[in-house]
Formats: sequence, structure tokens, C-alpha cells
Amino acid sequence: MTSISRRDFLKLGGTALLASIGISAGKYVPLHDEPNFTAPFIWNGTRKFKRMAFTYDDCYLLNKMQDLEVLLNEFPDFKVTFFPVGIKLLDLEQQDPGIWKRLVDNGHEIGYHTFDHVNLGVMSPATALMDYDKWYGALTQVLGAEHKVRFIRPPYDVISYTLDVLCQERGLVSALFSIGGGGEPDVVVRAIQEGKGGDIVQMHIRTQDYNSSVIAYPWLKANNWELVTLSKLYDDYLREQVNSDGCDVNAGVSLTRTCVE
Ligand SMILES: [Zn+2]
Repeated sequence: MTSISRRDFLKLGGTALLASIGISAGKYVPLHDEPNFTAPFIWNGTRKFKRMAFTYDDCYLLNKMQDLEVLLNEFPDFKVTFFPVGIKLLDLEQQDPGIWKRLVDNGHEIGYHTFDHVNLGVMSPATALMDYDKWYGALTQVLGAEHKVRFIRPPYDVISYTLDVLCQERGLVSALFSIGGGGEPDVVVRAIQEGKGGDIVQMHIRTQDYNSSVIAYPWLKANNWELVTLSKLYDDYLREQVNSDGCDVNAGVSLTRTCVE
């Protein structure tokens, strides 16, 4: 197999490079210690809990968004994260006023995916900052209020210097994924059924991924899985970091230390 360094991975753009050598991005080893990428970056959360984060990118299709909203309402404990492009924030709001506010009010999360699905890797940091602010303006407009944005899913899953700068400047965490949707529902659902705690599932608002969700949700519920927002998954991860330094997480109640969880 072709050997690639992490530097090459960053330079060439992760997913495209992995695809070129026949590896699914979801199988790639995390980049936790990448010296050139200094902002927080996750491929999955802590493995400690039976929780997954489902994420839905792009959000191009109104009818599939509406169908997913109905599905989510049937599973009120399940919370997911959307990564809409800015142009669709505005477009879907126009077609179905209040759609984004309903989702946020129901506990779902929204993250940044650029205003018009551009590859941040070919943008300058200054242009990317302007793009983020334009996208955030659209989000604030459709919600009628500020929404705490913590995550970015870079379009085309490209990891770049500009992404790093943007994350640092706007306090964002890059969220890639450990299970990819986008295939035939039976294949995707099987991958989910074989998933581990902390997995981040990448879906898109498309018919195929909606159909996968329709099959996966009841199975996850019946098998005592929690679907949580990326914020929840990330906070679990941060708590685990605190615990691994300050508290023995596997030895029961500590009498001398205060554990976060
Ligand atoms: Zn996308």
C-alpha cells in the first residue's frame, strides 16, 4: 500500500488523497497529534458512552429536510447536527418559514459548511473569514437570534491551512466523521449497526441518506443508543480529557478528587 505522511495528507486534501489510494476517509486514523494543524479537530468522540452523532450536510432539499424533521419528531430524544450551506439557510427559510428555528428549538445543532459550498483549501484565510461571517449572518437572520456555532464540516472534507486559521480565529472545532453515509441504505445501516460509541456519522440531506435514517433510527432506539449533537459528543470528549488527567474514571467514586463526570 502507498505510504503517506500526515503532512502529505494535509497538503493534498484528505478525502481526495485517501480515495486515490482506495481508503475510505472514515477509516483513517485521527490526526490528534498533527503538528501543523493547531485548532481542535475530531473524527469521533469518546468511546466511553453508547452515543453517536448523526450529521447532515448541505441541506439542499426542502422536502427531505421536512421529512427528516417529521422523523426526528418521532424520536424526541434523538438530537442531530446540521451543516447547511448559507445559501440554503436563506432559501429553505423562504420556502418554509421557521424551519431552522423549529429544529434548533427542538435541541438540534447547526454548524458551518461555507456559504456556497466552496473548498476552503483554495481560499485565503481572509476570504474564508468573510465567508464564515456571511454564513453566520444568514444563520442569525433565519433564527432571529444568535446561535452558538462550535463546529465546521469543511466542504469536500478537505483539511487545509485556511481551515486551521479559520478555526482559530472563530473558535471553531473541525468535525470530520468516522462513519460515512451516502451509500445504499442496507450498507450504511450495517455500518451504523457495527458502529462504536463516539462515532460521528456523515449524512447528507438526500433521498438515500434519509432512507438510511428511517431504517437506522428505530434500530438505534431499540438497541439503547443515544443520538446526540456534536456539542454533546465533544463535551463528553473534553470531560474524558479532564478525567484522564485528574481522576481515575474506572475506579468508582473518588473521595479526594472532584470528577467532571
Ligand atoms: Zn457538503
